[in-house]
Amino acid sequence: MPHRASTKSGERTVQLADLDKRYVWHPFTQMSDWNDGRPLVIERGEGSYLIDTDGNRYLDGVSSLWTVVHGHGRAEINDAIRAQLDDLAHSTLLGLANVPSVHLAHSLVDIAPAELEKVFYSDSGSTAVEIALKMAFQYWQQRGRPDKHRFISLVNAYHGDTVGAVSVGGIDLFHGIFGKLLFDTIQVPIEVGALEKVLDEQADGVAAMIVEPLVQGAAGMLMQPDGYLGEVARLCRAHDVLLIADEVATGFGRTGKMFACEHEGVSPDLMCLAKGLTGGYLPLAATLATREIYDAFLGARGDNKQFFHGHTYTGNPLACAAALASLRLFEQEKVIERVVVRAEQLRVLLQERIAPLKAVSEVRQRGLMIGIELGVEGAGYDVCQRARHYGVVVRNLGDVVVLMPPLSITEPELAILVSAVDLSIQDVLK
Ligand SMILES: *Cc1c(COP(=O)(O)O)cnc(C)c1O
Repeated sequence: MPHRASTKSGERTVQLADLDKRYVWHPFTQMSDWNDGRPLVIERGEGSYLIDTDGNRYLDGVSSLWTVVHGHGRAEINDAIRAQLDDLAHSTLLGLANVPSVHLAHSLVDIAPAELEKVFYSDSGSTAVEIALKMAFQYWQQRGRPDKHRFISLVNAYHGDTVGAVSVGGIDLFHGIFGKLLFDTIQVPIEVGALEKVLDEQADGVAAMIVEPLVQGAAGMLMQPDGYLGEVARLCRAHDVLLIADEVATGFGRTGKMFACEHEGVSPDLMCLAKGLTGGYLPLAATLATREIYDAFLGARGDNKQFFHGHTYTGNPLACAAALASLRLFEQEKVIERVVVRAEQLRVLLQERIAPLKAVSEVRQRGLMIGIELGVEGAGYDVCQRARHYGVVVRNLGDVVVLMPPLSITEPELAILVSAVDLSIQDVLK
């Protein structure tokens, strides 16, 4: 029986909720809706659970927006951050190096696809994407091919919310309104023939193609057919177009491999990492590049060939220390092997409990990335709100209920998660 959260709020919770409504503007949120509701105020995290200011426990079914890897409050990561804090909280990478950012870059290059040899840090998935786009653009300028300045992106793509990332995005609901602000891209459907045609005709004007490998997350967990990514990589290479793999959502074990590109033996030219990089503890991102790209930015001082980009908190030592601790846990706990087992357990549960429901039109899964498509318009939000009653926090993308539990979730917790979603769908769509 899933845990039922209490419906009473203590005085402190009411006060915090009132202050939140007075002062905080929440992302992707209709605030008039929010202000009519009763927000959960989260105070603590423990393993797979979030705990609110009234002491109610909620299974974190979306890993605090796809970030938490080894659970909340992992001693190993907490200790690493504390130890780093005693040495240094921040120092810039503009003109200086720092200890954990050196070690982390080394570790990332070790585990990344073979041809990625250099690490450029930033702070969010969006900035990792902006950097990849600007690197690709400047690369061709400096290779003497300035006409190669456009980008190919996929329909339903999501690469973040800054203006460059939105330009290569393809979700109308998020991106449509900003149309006049964006640069023009070549959008292709997920279909090898269509890409081949575009490349045959326009590759001379294209700097790079950007893809979310295997799974388009924010679009609602849309799965690409097997072999598609491999074909994209082959075609891009054959046409002298760089391939940018946006692994912000799929990276760090989510799909059952460390990086989704590994499923198809693909080594992209640029790779964007963020969300799970620090295990979900601190904001940090990285754009990995090949030596060939890096070398195009070398020259004499005064040649002005360096990469003109850098954020203030680039390579923050606390965040890098958290990421290093997270990578150590991947090894110590054989996390990838466990994810494969958990994904299979979850698949069975979803087949038993969710797929047969009349209100469910499709269940999509890759590793621990799951989209439950409801056949009823507008129900996704209500189902997710209802799940709180059963002690589970999940978040919908339109009519899709997303499950993205921490990679550390246990088998009994998976059963709680699926049971709560099952009951919520039945309650809302009886
Ligand atoms: C979340 C996401 C981003 C944006 O990351 P932020 O840290 O929110 O800026 C970019 N690409 C993909 C594939 C994502 O899922």
